Amino acid sequence: MPVLDEKLTTIYDEVLRRNPGETEFHQAVHEVLDSLGPVVAKHPQYTDAAVINRLCEPERQIIFRVPWVDDKGKVQLNRGFRVEFNSALGPYKGGLRFHPSVYLGIVKFLGFEQIFKNSLTGMPIGGGKGGSDFDPKGRSDGEIMRFCQAFMTELYRHIGEYTDVPAGDIGVGGREIGYLFGQHKRITNRYESGVLTGKGLTWGGSQVRTEATGYGTVFFTHEILKARDESFDGRDVIVSGSGNVAIYAIEKVHQLGGRVVAASDSGGYVHDPSGIDLELLKDVKNGRRERISTYATESGATFVPTGKGSVWSVKADIALPCATQNELNGHDARTLIDNGVKIVAEGANMPCTPDAVRLFGESGVTFAPGKAANAGGVATSALEMQQNASRDSWSFEHTEQRLEKIMRGIHDRCLETSEEYGAPGNYTVGANIAGFIQVADAMLAQGVI
Ligand code: NDP
Repeated sequence: MPVLDEKLTTIYDEVLRRNPGETEFHQAVHEVLDSLGPVVAKHPQYTDAAVINRLCEPERQIIFRVPWVDDKGKVQLNRGFRVEFNSALGPYKGGLRFHPSVYLGIVKFLGFEQIFKNSLTGMPIGGGKGGSDFDPKGRSDGEIMRFCQAFMTELYRHIGEYTDVPAGDIGVGGREIGYLFGQHKRITNRYESGVLTGKGLTWGGSQVRTEATGYGTVFFTHEILKARDESFDGRDVIVSGSGNVAIYAIEKVHQLGGRVVAASDSGGYVHDPSGIDLELLKDVKNGRRERISTYATESGATFVPTGKGSVWSVKADIALPCATQNELNGHDARTLIDNGVKIVAEGANMPCTPDAVRLFGESGVTFAPGKAANAGGVATSALEMQQNASRDSWSFEHTEQRLEKIMRGIHDRCLETSEEYGAPGNYTVGANIAGFIQVADAMLAQGVI
């Protein structure tokens, strides 16, 4: 990893000492600190008031036991987390992830990223994240419901419209938000719409929230293309994953004239040179909840199982990693570059390793970090909160226009900030600095708390 300046090195060493073994969290902190050298040189007040040190320490970390009963009547045990990272700009806001890999270090990396992402949206939301090591794969609907109820039975005492507003992430979609909301309502006896986002359209949800992260990532990529007088027309695109973010990224690429030629899940990837058949993919993944290999069987596309090849070996102009952290390493980046990729935009959170990001930079590939490119999901969650607060509900077209405008705003702010701080066109530097300054100024104004 690149060397930080002296003050930032001291801060980073302290983060390593306080948070042993949390490698993803270390990676996320290092990536932000790496951009802040010119900021601390220009604005000593941020280091004088220990703003960066405070930003790296969550305001509150909650870890709890989640016992529940499976279909065979056996008691199962999981661990739940909610990290309330920073509330300088508004109530904590960020998703819940249910995946067996979840531990405190993952939740903290995601919560830390969320602070800057939420700041970039320009909306009044702080940063937080949560989840559980529960594995939803292969669980019945009844088991999912009982797990969600057990999870909310502890979480409810920590959240609220003015405190902390969770949403979905890996393993938590509309079904899970429904069960979580139902249990919150039951145990609090309050129909508090603003306590969760990602709700169903008939009970407080927002149009476009389901599509928002994937659509937003593609809107952001479209802005990059427009800035060079280019478009999606005739472009081949790889989208990794086939979950919520991936599916709607594919949809928007197709609507804008591009062609997605590969997608994946943890079992492997499909290569469909004529373009992914999105209706079939939605049916396989969302309707039948089956594996992506089924898509290949039914469409005639090529399926390559995990371990036998990588989705990043497919030739494309644009790559949108939309599955999970560190899914695209230096080797994958090299393959993409050799195959002529021009733009990589992160739909997932931190899917590219530091090595990969460095190689993209050195090879002139435009790289858009997740905290900017995938901010459309949380931005639309904030629009859902606005609608809940005013007991209103907006049309699909109106909400999508708002989303597109927000993504354009984030894109422009990243570019302008990258120029102001001497790294023109570097979206990572632009996103980190623009996201940081807004939070840091709010923290300074609010005193030492
Ligand atoms: P989903 O659970 O809907 O989909 C995740 C997809 O990624 C699935 O296809 C899954 O495959 C695949 N995947 C997960 N883990 C791995 C792995 N270790 N190796 C390979 N593939 C894997 O999650 P989302 O689409 O909601 O989230 C995807 C990413 O986007 C995450 O990084 C998330 O933090 C980020 N994000 C999501 C937002 C949202 O609004 N949902 C907002 C902003 C960011 P399988 O089914 O086989 O596990």
